[in-house]
Amino acid sequence: MCQVQFNIESDLCNVKQNISKMISNKKIVKIVFAVQLTFLPFFMLGQSKTTDIALHKMVQQRTELMFDSLVKIRRDFHTYPELAEEEEGTSKKIAFYLKSLGLEVYTHIGGYGVVGILRTNKKGKRIAWRADIDALESNHSDVVNFSSKNKGVRHICGHDVHTTIALGIAKVLTSLKENLRGTVYFIFQPSEENWVGAKAMIDDGLFDLIDPEEIYALHIGPMSEGIITTKARNPFADYKGIEITFENTKGKKNIIDYTKALFLNLQNVLPDSKFWDNKNLLDPNIGLGNPNTIFKDYLTVNPNIAVKETDNEISVRAYLSAEKETQLELILNQLRMKLKKSRYSAQFLDIKFYKETALVLNDEQLTSETMSSIGEIYGNEHVLPLYGAIPDGRGDDFSLFQRKIPGVYFLLGASNFEKGIISMPHSPNFAVDESCIKTGVNFFSSMIIERLKQ
Ligand SMILES: [Zn+2]
Ligand SMILES: [Zn+2]
Repeated sequence: MCQVQFNIESDLCNVKQNISKMISNKKIVKIVFAVQLTFLPFFMLGQSKTTDIALHKMVQQRTELMFDSLVKIRRDFHTYPELAEEEEGTSKKIAFYLKSLGLEVYTHIGGYGVVGILRTNKKGKRIAWRADIDALESNHSDVVNFSSKNKGVRHICGHDVHTTIALGIAKVLTSLKENLRGTVYFIFQPSEENWVGAKAMIDDGLFDLIDPEEIYALHIGPMSEGIITTKARNPFADYKGIEITFENTKGKKNIIDYTKALFLNLQNVLPDSKFWDNKNLLDPNIGLGNPNTIFKDYLTVNPNIAVKETDNEISVRAYLSAEKETQLELILNQLRMKLKKSRYSAQFLDIKFYKETALVLNDEQLTSETMSSIGEIYGNEHVLPLYGAIPDGRGDDFSLFQRKIPGVYFLLGASNFEKGIISMPHSPNFAVDESCIKTGVNFFSSMIIERLKQ
């Protein structure tokens, strides 16, 4: 996942207050679980609700036991990061770990992709969990003391954490195999950053090898550690490159000026809007966690409009971004009508999207069911709805898996504002509160257990 880079150093007082509230709530959740379990008579364990509570408690115990080893694994991935299409060492480590758990393991799928299969040999659902494994180019020095030893390459998009959480979930679920039904597929996808890996894995027969009914993934986000969020349909803005072509004629300067103005007039965000400051994404009043967010109903136009000219044609290209997933299609049709009626209708040849990428689209029912089940098990204060859509993102090629299998893409908070840890993907000072590994393994192991039963 990629977002515009920025540094948050400012007053995040409100966010801090929310974190302290969250931390104290977390303690309460743990106490409630402990009390419930102390009074569980053994004969009740056969009953479904009781078994569920006991099973999710076991998830937490197993995660707690393996947490230190998971932190070591994450730090090793962090120290030896590999760029997209070069993840040889990373994939070897993943395959070795999955084999040590006794899973069925397949390697070299679409490059350095790895798949681990956990079969319970009991009837049940088939659920896939995907983690991306590649790192990014960065020459900034690391903010942690286990810094990258691969020059110019760093894990500043959190994929080291994604990979570790997926391994942790695999280990927790394997250890509870006797209590589970169905099949879990763990997909370790290479080359997310350049949008090569998901397509490569699919083209290499991923869905001949595995047959999931649902697919899930997470990405580190800049919210506080302990928080997960997502929304039905698109959590990221839709963005597309749009191109208008005319015959090359004498009055071309007027045509180019007219077309540039046509594009720029589409933008509905004012230049002085708080929209442009990314730290407002987390603002409690106008950020993405508030139903009245300013990151809703927007359409923005990248001001770098390109003009290409041949002897016969002139084409003008702009990059648009919209919160609503269907809006850019509508805009394309409206512009076509406008151009046909314009004074340049005789020269107008074509309008089309010259660049479009699949948008992350969360299945509505699965989003609602999974968010509720995690909230029920771990406390609703950890599961926050997302409103609007994250602007200026390039999304995630997990969307290509979602084109085949319904699923949900979650954001997992990893910031700790009190400690100055800000987990904004792609920012040079990207860091995570490693407690998010525990949160991720707990929440999503439990979520998968609930889905397998469906
Ligand atoms: Zn990224
Ligand atoms: Zn990413």
